[in-house]
Amino acid sequence: MRKITLSNGKTVEVACLSCAITSNLIEPDGGIVFETEYFHAHQDVAYPIKGLIILASKRHIKCFDELTEIEKIDYIQLLSKIRKAQRDVLGIEYVYYFYNEDTTHHFHTWMLPRYDWMYEFGRSVESVRPVLLYARNKMNTKENIQEVLDAIDSLAKELNK
Ligand SMILES: [Zn+2]
Repeated sequence: MRKITLSNGKTVEVACLSCAITSNLIEPDGGIVFETEYFHAHQDVAYPIKGLIILASKRHIKCFDELTEIEKIDYIQLLSKIRKAQRDVLGIEYVYYFYNEDTTHHFHTWMLPRYDWMYEFGRSVESVRPVLLYARNKMNTKENIQEVLDAIDSLAKELNK
């Protein structure tokens, strides 16, 4: 079991955070953005960045080559669908995608929107960690959290219409 601190400051103890979220044991901030039989999309629970979506498999797997044929198709369709909604609803021009197989959780892809303020931390992969830490340490304001929640709401409405 691992202790995980959520963006709202609460701590939870779970064997696998992705399992806990995709099975609805933990409700992520703002709830489910979109789900299918195989995947679950939600706002990242640790970093308050508008439109930062986690696309997690429902099965507890770690590696890309563990996806079944139908999961592969569902995955690429969902990534594209969520990406389009980020553009249409939130006006997001660019997104960074991050996925690591040696995760302590399970198969999940981060869809991290690029905002102008992020460029002070550099471009490309080296900026990702500082951006996330900045968000967690400096952007946990009531106002920003509300914006994040509103964005989740807009994305969910767009994706589920
Ligand atoms: Zn899991």
